[in-house]
Amino acid sequence: MTKWVDFKTVREHLNFRDVLAHYGIEEHWPKTGMRDQVKIICPFHDDHKPSCGVNLVKEVYNCFACDAGGNALDFVAHMEGLNPDKTGELRKAAFVAADTFGIEQALKRPPRGGEAKASEKSKAKTTKVTKPVKAKSKPSKKKAKDKPTKNGKGKPNKPLTFTLKLDHKHPFIKERGFKKKLIKEFGIGFSDKGMMKGRIAFPIHNSGGDLIAYSGRWASDELPEDVPRYLLPKGFEKNKVLFNLNRVLEARADDPDLDTIVIVEGFWSVLRLHSENVPCVSTFGDSVSEAQVELLVQNGFKNIILIFDGDEGGRVGTESSLPILAEHVFVKTVALENGIKPDTMDDDIVATLPRFN
Ligand SMILES: [Zn+2]
Repeated sequence: MTKWVDFKTVREHLNFRDVLAHYGIEEHWPKTGMRDQVKIICPFHDDHKPSCGVNLVKEVYNCFACDAGGNALDFVAHMEGLNPDKTGELRKAAFVAADTFGIEQALKRPPRGGEAKASEKSKAKTTKVTKPVKAKSKPSKKKAKDKPTKNGKGKPNKPLTFTLKLDHKHPFIKERGFKKKLIKEFGIGFSDKGMMKGRIAFPIHNSGGDLIAYSGRWASDELPEDVPRYLLPKGFEKNKVLFNLNRVLEARADDPDLDTIVIVEGFWSVLRLHSENVPCVSTFGDSVSEAQVELLVQNGFKNIILIFDGDEGGRVGTESSLPILAEHVFVKTVALENGIKPDTMDDDIVATLPRFN
């Protein structure tokens, strides 16, 4: 079983002198002046005099000649030939550090349901990255509602005062093969007038369950020129909303210990995972915003599994979203093969995801 690693714990427990000793690097103490700073022959450039300073109190290093610098974990990463600016490589370094210096407490088992059954033939490659939940963003037990809904006049994402009349049996929905009950639960249907005309409309709710918008997907795979496949209303602030969070919170009321959630890009992916009892939200695209992470933290989620689409956008979005997520929660990514999305990924990947009891 693979483990999660907590960057913060690694950093807190790494002792720079142990690190230097481990790599056989000699400390040069200054004759006078500061006693918390040593010099070393910089291992990152062809150094002949000790150019690199290591502050043993602040546990940071800085080379005046080659500009190498960072904390003790960055140093380990550099020594291991890994780039600490890349989350995936820093993660590898964190495992090396935890292992080498016996920082057991930084290694955690995944939450229940985690990857208990991850099979060898699984087509997904998983990587795990973690960072601490910051003190200031401690998850509260209280159910947080989206803020702008009260006194929401003129503000975006306020509750709608109308509902669209939709055809829930449109062929484009039917051919997706979802159960009628699920389509009804999500309220998805074809719209034949107004701004969503010709589209499959997906009702979007805030975390409190108020209907705040519709997003429309063009109801055919043949897209006329200059017509976007997906449409959101003008002024809708998608980066402050997570599609399906309202239903997840409702289901979580019966399963209060559940603190892991899956993030995907699209509506159909949410439908598939929701139908399999996996707590799952979508970001309306291939990136996660600060506000969206905050929404999850406020609602008590501590572990996030990010599964973006198996395409260029999904990969780029995963890279850019990881640092935002890892600042606040434990995060794991599942990389899908080209052309695969969470609504078409193998059942054995789904089997590794957390579920509602
Ligand atoms: Zn240097």
